[in-house]
Amino acid sequence: MNALRAVSLFRRGFAHGVHPPDHKALTAEVPTQRIPFASRYVLPLNQHLGAPARPLVEVGQRVRRGQRIAEPTAFVSTSLHTPVTGWVRALDRRCGPDGAYQEAIEIEADPYATQRLEPAVPRDWRSLSLEELVEELPHSGIVGLGGAALPAQVKYSLRAGVRIRYLIANGAECEPYLTNDHRVMVERAETLLRGIEILQTLLGAEETIIGIELNKPEAIAGLRALIQPGQGVRVVPLRVKYPQGDSKMMIRSLLGREVPAGLHAADLGIIMNNVSTIAAIADWFETGTPYIDRRVTVSGPGIARPSNLLVPLGTQVREVLRFCGGLSEDTREVIMGGPMMGKPVANLDAPIVKTSSGILAFTAKDTARPREYPCIRCGRCVEACPYFLNPSRLARLARARLYDEMKRLNLMECVECGSCTYSCPSGIPIVQLIRTAKSNLRGRRRAVQG
Ligand code: SF4
Ligand code: SF4
Repeated sequence: MNALRAVSLFRRGFAHGVHPPDHKALTAEVPTQRIPFASRYVLPLNQHLGAPARPLVEVGQRVRRGQRIAEPTAFVSTSLHTPVTGWVRALDRRCGPDGAYQEAIEIEADPYATQRLEPAVPRDWRSLSLEELVEELPHSGIVGLGGAALPAQVKYSLRAGVRIRYLIANGAECEPYLTNDHRVMVERAETLLRGIEILQTLLGAEETIIGIELNKPEAIAGLRALIQPGQGVRVVPLRVKYPQGDSKMMIRSLLGREVPAGLHAADLGIIMNNVSTIAAIADWFETGTPYIDRRVTVSGPGIARPSNLLVPLGTQVREVLRFCGGLSEDTREVIMGGPMMGKPVANLDAPIVKTSSGILAFTAKDTARPREYPCIRCGRCVEACPYFLNPSRLARLARARLYDEMKRLNLMECVECGSCTYSCPSGIPIVQLIRTAKSNLRGRRRAVQG
């Protein structure tokens, strides 16, 4: 019965989207390795969505691996912990991955320290209520690891009267090249299932569905083998299609439900979290481990040794690349994240942050921008947009700076997935134009608010 249901759900899928080559074979079977500790770490205070964290340490202070060094300053904010034992060397502005300078804590590692985490007493999560989970999570520093970096507690803070029926564990990892969620599902399947048990119990959810794209058969088989009958957890394989991992697409594929604009999935009784986030929540409750090490896929044609690495937050991108054999001579661009939604790394001295799912290197051949031609009104971008927007029109309006008109065409619904740009035969940088328009609108709003 379950198998039949899974097949019918799998066929349902979502409309539109694109099929870029996945390039996952480069690292899908490469086990995660821990990178050696470096000497210096830079930890920006705004590695999450929302208000930056506030430092709790002073320059010169001795800190030990896992110690909280910054606290949340609002509900949408979270803690920051040092990934190494050492000394605070600076509280100052440092260059982030996007090239912008931001407030950060710089730590010098103690070369003689063992860098072992102090063992913590496992938490008795069964005695917690959902409200206590929401109070607890800001201490962990955990954020949504699928890309948005929303502090973990925000998802679990439900409006009065909301009842959650489904927990969805998002294992789609639909961005090409990236395989770090895949490795979590293969290497840490039991931890993931324990995280699911914690959240499913505290939410009182009837069922957890783990959605995984079909290009990860090892993860699908491994998790299915561990799930016990009556556990209320099932794995549903999904078609390989971008952006399958987008929350609204995933909900449509798995449950056939639409999340109307302006509503949250929780309003429909659904909560979705990325598989790595759920495993991190299990680590916090079972071993007291805060979020200090990021799993990063290092891949792309410019990388000598494509790898999956466990990297302490704050490690320089340059160190990560060096560990993987460095860049080929013809590398022209290094991207943080996936090739569809990731951003170019402006400075290789920038740190790995909580959102650094991938470091990808591309050569001149891969990054050659197609010459741009006028729009031929072929409609491919419209067919590709999973949010049923009109990307060509939005791009034209963005060029003319007609932002209010763009808002009327639901600009803010755009999730910047890049499917439109990928499908455009005229090489029009549609998503880049939309991104600029959105950022200008946000700037205008800030200016009005003073
Ligand atoms: S308009 Fe936005 S949501 Fe639609 S395909 Fe382009 S980037 Fe994706
Ligand atoms: S895909 Fe490109 S050329 Fe075709 S309608 Fe969209 S913007 Fe125009």
